[in-house]
Amino acid sequence: MKTLRILTVVALGSLLSFGLFAANDAPKAPAGKKAQCCVRAAADNNKACTHPCCVEAAKANKNCERCGGTNTADAPAPGKS
Ligand SMILES: [Zn+2]
Ligand SMILES: [Zn+2]
Repeated sequence: MKTLRILTVVALGSLLSFGLFAANDAPKAPAGKKAQCCVRAAADNNKACTHPCCVEAAKANKNCERCGGTNTADAPAPGKS
C-alpha cells in the first residue's frame, strides 16, 4: 500500500501547488470586463456573442452589462434634461 500513499501525497501536492499558482496568476478584474457569455463565445473560435443584448452593447463598443460585463467609461449620457 506504499505506492498508493505516495501517489496520494503527490496528487495532493500538485493540487496544492496548482492552487497557489492559479491564485498568483489570477488577473485582477479590470473595470472593463466582458460578460461571461461573450468570453465563452470569444474562446470558441473568436466568435461574437449572439445575445441580442450583447450585440447591441458591442455596437456601442461596450461590454454587455446585462450579462455581467462592466465598462470603464460609465459616464451618463449628456444632454438629457
Ligand atoms: Zn454575451
Ligand atoms: Zn448580453
